[in-house]
Amino acid sequence: YKELRLILGDQLNAGHSWYQTKQSDVLYVIAELKQEQSYVKHHVQKIQAFFLAMAQFADALSQAGHQVLYLTLDDTQDFQDLPSLLTHLLKHYQCQYFSYLRPDEYRLAEQLFNFASRFSGQSRCVETEHFFLNFNELSDYFQADKRHRLEVFYRKMRKRFNYLMAGDEPEGGQWNYDQDNRHKLKPKDIEQLPEPLVFANDVAAINQRLQKYNIAHFGEQSDQLLWPVNRRQAKELLEHFCVRCLPKFGQFQDAMTCQGQDMMSDRQWSLYHARLSFALNAKILSPQQVVDTAVDYYRGQPTLISLAQIEGFIRQILGWREFVRGIYWANMPNYAEQNNLSADEQLPTWFWTGKTKMNCLHHAIQQSLQYAYAHHIQRLMITGNFCLLAGIHPDQVDAWYLGIYIDAIEWVEMPNTRGMSQFADGGIVASKAYAASGNYVDKMSDYCKSCAYKVKEKTTDDACPLNSLYWHFMTRHRDKFGTNPRQAMVYRNWDKQSESQQAAILAKADRLLLQLDKL
Ligand code: FAD
Repeated sequence: YKELRLILGDQLNAGHSWYQTKQSDVLYVIAELKQEQSYVKHHVQKIQAFFLAMAQFADALSQAGHQVLYLTLDDTQDFQDLPSLLTHLLKHYQCQYFSYLRPDEYRLAEQLFNFASRFSGQSRCVETEHFFLNFNELSDYFQADKRHRLEVFYRKMRKRFNYLMAGDEPEGGQWNYDQDNRHKLKPKDIEQLPEPLVFANDVAAINQRLQKYNIAHFGEQSDQLLWPVNRRQAKELLEHFCVRCLPKFGQFQDAMTCQGQDMMSDRQWSLYHARLSFALNAKILSPQQVVDTAVDYYRGQPTLISLAQIEGFIRQILGWREFVRGIYWANMPNYAEQNNLSADEQLPTWFWTGKTKMNCLHHAIQQSLQYAYAHHIQRLMITGNFCLLAGIHPDQVDAWYLGIYIDAIEWVEMPNTRGMSQFADGGIVASKAYAASGNYVDKMSDYCKSCAYKVKEKTTDDACPLNSLYWHFMTRHRDKFGTNPRQAMVYRNWDKQSESQQAAILAKADRLLLQLDKL
């Protein structure tokens, strides 16, 4: 072969221009690598999903007439890392050219850049042709250390890519319908929740390989994987989303429930969310394809799907997803070191088991262990909020998020976790800390009703721990947040409380902080 082209596990873009011509002297390589299984401990379903999606992509490419080498862990076990495997393959196949698709993760980008610069033949790094913005354009929108705001970026993106626009103005006259998107689920809404579309992909052979090579993992494991692993399944899930979920997507985007588990199905874990993040992040679907399909449905059924619903969905993909990528690349590698609030507590052990008496955390974690999935508000306002209030070290928080979620790849995980949720970047992503007491959880969910702790209490033995931890957090960081107009009201409420009440709340939180493992 004249040229070796490397495809990483999250680069399964069948529409890439590479595949438009068939060349018998080009060898495509897709490999299961131990190095990718060990930089963090992963949920088993995440490993299964990547391996199966890679294998099916390799099959599809070779059926389309390309030369493809798919290497399993059996084939790559003797190679210490990706560069050593590539050195061997390039020599073995006597390739003069080495090409690779631009990695989205800093770690891999560095590794391949260094490898390519040492390679004696010619090497090329090629765009993945996946995102709305090309890599080279990111610096037009994002600068290192600068506080960027989603809303500003999002409006530019709406205009530039002409989504939901009426000339230069936003369709409907408003850019953002977020206020319409904060409904709690009532019992009758829960009865109407759509049953999630799940798949039954056979992963028995992958499970055997994981065992054979002692790959460490966690989370619920079976021989069937429910996540979509190829284009056909991903498109089916996209259609399902547009028909069943999009009509209420925005309305219940922030809602959480522990009801809706019945004999036939389990509907409370996915609600009206798309669950397309794995297919998107592995590049099985392109963001443009997802947004275009959703807009087509909206145009076809304007009475069923309101502007607020489609706008809310587009904001996530055209806005947030591209935004966090820009933040990541503008700030790496320093971003990974940020710890603006000097958080240094240990992650409680129950994050790995779900065994806590706090019902909200129990549900969010147990669900994550079961499905490798939690929706945005569970990630931000349940697990993320707890870590923020308790002051867990951001390295530990990052490692947990990066391991547990089906869609967790560092470029999107880190700005969301370290930035948005933990405020460890000092406000580059978020305009305020997303800190909340039990009151917020009670407002947006039905978790508190069946909780061992009392959400209205602050200092009693069975008081919701989030309440005192919240005030502890807000007071210990008053120097940082006291001048933020978005949080002024919070401090006014604190100052209104008597000194003895304040002291009791802080003492309660101090006691909790000494025994986080026991909550
Ligand atoms: P939906 O709610 O249906 O949204 C549709 C799509 O919008 C998603 O598939 C996703 O591609 C995109 N999207 C929505 N919100 C965001 C966001 N904040 N950032 C980037 N894209 C977004 N998303 C990941 O893809 N990988 C991660 O590792 C990840 N880690 C997160 C960690 C924390 C602490 C938080 C608060 C959020 C994280 N998110 C992450 C963002 C978001 O929670 C997930 O994208 C979403 O829950 C995926 O489920 P879904 O496909 O059902 O999304």
